[in-house]
Amino acid sequence: MMKRSAALLMLIVFFCFGISFSYPVLGQKSSTIHTIIVDPGHGGQFHGTRGLISKEEDVTLEIGLKLGQAIKKEFPNIKVVYTRTTEGSVNDATSLREDLHNRAQIANQAKGDLFISIHCDATPRPAGGYYERRVVGHKRKLEYVGRGKKRRKKWVTVPIYQSYWVKNMMTGATTYIWKAEKMEDKTKAINQKDEDSTGEFQDSTIEWDTESPEARIRAQLYEQKYFKKSATLAALIEDEFASSGRRTWGVKQRDKGIQVLQATGMPSVLVETGYLTNKEEEEYLNSDKGQDEVVADIIKALSRYKQQLESNRPFANLTLDSTKQQ
Ligand SMILES: [Zn+2]
Repeated sequence: MMKRSAALLMLIVFFCFGISFSYPVLGQKSSTIHTIIVDPGHGGQFHGTRGLISKEEDVTLEIGLKLGQAIKKEFPNIKVVYTRTTEGSVNDATSLREDLHNRAQIANQAKGDLFISIHCDATPRPAGGYYERRVVGHKRKLEYVGRGKKRRKKWVTVPIYQSYWVKNMMTGATTYIWKAEKMEDKTKAINQKDEDSTGEFQDSTIEWDTESPEARIRAQLYEQKYFKKSATLAALIEDEFASSGRRTWGVKQRDKGIQVLQATGMPSVLVETGYLTNKEEEEYLNSDKGQDEVVADIIKALSRYKQQLESNRPFANLTLDSTKQQ
């Protein structure tokens, strides 16, 4: 009797241990971030936009390097891989398409869990500001009208113009994610002239093959696995910018020019950190204070994103504003 109960106890103990040992295998695997790809936008001949005192490629590199350092400091277990750490194009690319392809390749080879692209925005109008003319009144003026024998003098009314200075006021941060769910729109957008008023990617002549089976598979994968995560991180970044008192434009979707986000097999965001065409915002983005603040905001957002990922809470569907264009 004693023997049998001991055997039963052993069986129970073994059974419990068996369950506890196998639990991590049976249970949901905990997700975390091992590698983050930091992508300072532009570089070399693909310099991006310009402000009064700086070029986008330099500002994105400074912010990108600071972001990488901050990630290592804040999350020592996370590996940081940069797409570029020097001024030139990525792996000496000679075309924009090759440059973006190289960025995606670095990210994919490093098996990144997250791709963060850093950019600066611009309006199509000149950096700082520009002169415009306005009509402030009218005056009578004697003019010759008609030809030959019919030529005669005539009083005409002409406008009086005044030149005035228009400051380039557009400021604020926007975080973009890739629009994957509308393949036909993307193809259309590629064929259209870029109507994006931000001035970003306007010199881009890349045409991505969106119809290839590989591209379709990548798009589906992005949609299924990475879209909600990308949207969540983007929303958190915008939220942190707003908390720091920055003007923010929220999460937007764009297809043209950011197919690099699709080409990377991981959640990915493109952060437009602010406008270089606004004098004060350009100075802010060039200052240590501004750069540190932008980096701190992204780190705070990353921390919240990482917590959600590690808690295995599902990522919600966000309602995204893809139509509002400033
Ligand atoms: Zn850019």
